[in-house]
Amino acid sequence: MRRYLKPVASELLFEVMGFMEPRNTDRSLEAGWNLDNSYVGLPEKLFERVRPDAASAPKLVVLNEPLARTLGFSPDVLRETAEIFAGSKLPPGAEPIAQAYAGHQFGYFTMLGDGRAILLGEQRTPDGNRFDIQLKGSGRTSYSRRGDGRAALGPMLREYIIGEAMHGFGIPTTRALAVAETGEPVYRQCLEKGAVLTRVASSHIRVGTFEFVAALGDRAALEQLTKYTLMRHYPDLAPTDNPALALLTGVIERQASLIAHWLRVGFVHGVMNTDNMALSGETIDYGPCAFIDLYAPHAVFSSIDVHGRYAYGNQPPIAQWNLARFAETLLPLLGGSEEESIEIASDAVQAFGDRFKFHWSRLLKTKLGLAQYEAGDDELCESFLTLLEANKADFTNSFRALLSPELPREPVFQTEEGRSWHERWRKRIGGSTEKFAEATDLLRRHNPAVIPRNHIVEAVLLAAVQSGDYEPLERFISVLRAPYESPPEDSPYLQPSPKDAAPYRTFCGT
Ligand code: AMP
Ligand code: MG
Repeated sequence: MRRYLKPVASELLFEVMGFMEPRNTDRSLEAGWNLDNSYVGLPEKLFERVRPDAASAPKLVVLNEPLARTLGFSPDVLRETAEIFAGSKLPPGAEPIAQAYAGHQFGYFTMLGDGRAILLGEQRTPDGNRFDIQLKGSGRTSYSRRGDGRAALGPMLREYIIGEAMHGFGIPTTRALAVAETGEPVYRQCLEKGAVLTRVASSHIRVGTFEFVAALGDRAALEQLTKYTLMRHYPDLAPTDNPALALLTGVIERQASLIAHWLRVGFVHGVMNTDNMALSGETIDYGPCAFIDLYAPHAVFSSIDVHGRYAYGNQPPIAQWNLARFAETLLPLLGGSEEESIEIASDAVQAFGDRFKFHWSRLLKTKLGLAQYEAGDDELCESFLTLLEANKADFTNSFRALLSPELPREPVFQTEEGRSWHERWRKRIGGSTEKFAEATDLLRRHNPAVIPRNHIVEAVLLAAVQSGDYEPLERFISVLRAPYESPPEDSPYLQPSPKDAAPYRTFCGT
């Protein structure tokens, strides 16, 4: 008897005294994982079961603590199970898959799929939501084509920064829960450190997912995917006798709003291929994206976007083009005949133009502190943009400068036209202190003071990747999480890129 009891008793004693962990305990069970995978209930041709590659030396370099808590995780325990974020170990309840999808890339149709991403499952959160947890850069899948299935540290950290900034702005976005180094090199233009990003998204269903099913010509699968997506992202629209139309209108509305918000903060996505447009209405795929300094509708940063297809001001028509591709996939379901379906689809896609204008015109007015609208407001707003463009003015700082009760010191207001525009605007706002306070309160909440300026993003990435110094990155993230607060006037975060800097270029090679 004693022979059996003794070891148990001593183990308990150790545990109570904090000398050692109880044996056979998997800490990941205590981290708060609550995974399900509803996506595997869809037809099997929509995904492939895969396992992430094990990393040789997993090292967690970023853990997004606020996001971890929202998802129901204990950040401390997550830190102890870093190997999960490098793909070396599966969290409890994971059912890893790579998702199939197609897409129009720069206008040309291609069959794609998760070539370097693996969906572990859907985390069910304490407040009843469901988020995809996906590893990006954890090895090849059967959709990898010629790619290595891997990711480099710098671009993964960049995705973390931009995602947090978008979230801070209040714009729907996927976010990074963690970034872990794998300990293995990846071969790009030069040798880089390999890393895995853990991406959190409402889902990874894209326009391209529907294009994939449409290309297969599988009507039953199309119907199933339509109902699944509608239920998952637009449950309010689900009680309907035309689920395809409900989904199409829902997606169009969210995209119209999303693109207007991108313009509000000066965001250029850079690669708005249909596989990079999420049906949830979240911003997804932070590859060659960047923020404008100078206001310029033709601004392009991506080195491969030679024709400016995805330029700042071209994003609304491109979104509409993508939505037309989405509508086409739904043609078998939309109406009773092909003609009827085409008519329904065309009307819905056509409506995007008005919906976008509605959102953008409202946002632009709030950017100028206008809550109620009067005749002449549109012209007042448009003429401000014209003024910024003509003077190569800083987009972010020029709007934010309107908080000043005097004529702002920002260069654009020192010109003759700038001064007279400001006078008109002050008149429109109304002379009283209360009116001015009301207007500036509104514009303060719609014009970020801090954006991820390209040169600062580059500087914090350099410190992290080259020197393993994450302090500048963490400090930047904490400022980006409250972007509407005013940092001190001399803060480096407020400075546009140096005037003599070479034009900023971004690359897809990630
Ligand atoms: P993206 O430009 O990141 O949206 O990727 C477009 C397509 O290429 C997707 O199907 C990706 O999964 C795939 N892809 C991108 N990089 C790699 C890589 N290094 N290895 C394998 N597939 C990749
Ligand atoms: Mg993509």
